[in-house]
Amino acid sequence: MRKQIAAANWKMNLTFHQGEKLLDNILKADIKMNPHQYTVFAVPFPYLLMTRSEVEEEANYYVAAQNCHHKKNGAYTGEVSAEMLHSLAVSYCIVGHSERREYFGETNAMLAEKINLCLQYFVTPIFCCGEPLAIRESGTQNQFVEAQLKESLFHLPAETMKDIVIAYEPIWAIGTGKTATTQQAQEMHAFIRSKLAGQYGPQLSEEISILYGGSVKANNAGELFACPDVDGGLVGGASLQADDFIQIMRALK
Ligand code: PEP
Repeated sequence: MRKQIAAANWKMNLTFHQGEKLLDNILKADIKMNPHQYTVFAVPFPYLLMTRSEVEEEANYYVAAQNCHHKKNGAYTGEVSAEMLHSLAVSYCIVGHSERREYFGETNAMLAEKINLCLQYFVTPIFCCGEPLAIRESGTQNQFVEAQLKESLFHLPAETMKDIVIAYEPIWAIGTGKTATTQQAQEMHAFIRSKLAGQYGPQLSEEISILYGGSVKANNAGELFACPDVDGGLVGGASLQADDFIQIMRALK
């Protein structure tokens, strides 16, 4: 079975101590992941080591960065490289979150560079794609997402493509409380998988986890994750409350 992943994206929230307490409360629930199930905490950079040490005893719990720079190293004050993440044994990195694209001008081409660097340094990218509301309303969301995949991922050979996690996050659903319907999510996930199959063959396409993100909550995770092509979620707001995130972890297939 494909990896089923509950990924928390804390964004720029919580103090260090609040973050520690949240992790403690989640870990206290002692949820055992099945071998194909993973929990990932994407935390602010200063919390990476603390989070790693909190989860390192737990099977299939991992730490992620929320971003890395698109250049290998050098005079980029304030930035963090994929190699630095590797040196901290950080397992995952979110690449191309819509907030990074919108507020920090990240382009598909820059994201391709980030993907390459993450893979070079054994950090698994969680590649975010998804359309804004105007594109959804014009009915061209498939073409929009296909271009994101082509321009940031499809240069990869199959050997490295298999290590990517994709998160479909319709921008109109992020932080808005408006979730895609299960039908909308499944349709897009199946479309993404069909594009992966076209590029890399059906076998590889079946191995890649595609997460849904956009107002995943404790009360809708179950139905979203039950969709055949939805392999878990990337969760913002609801990952900041232990009880909510615990229920989302429990909703994994
Ligand atoms: C996200 O941060 O990727 C996200 C989907 O946020 P939210 O769950 O709050 O919509």
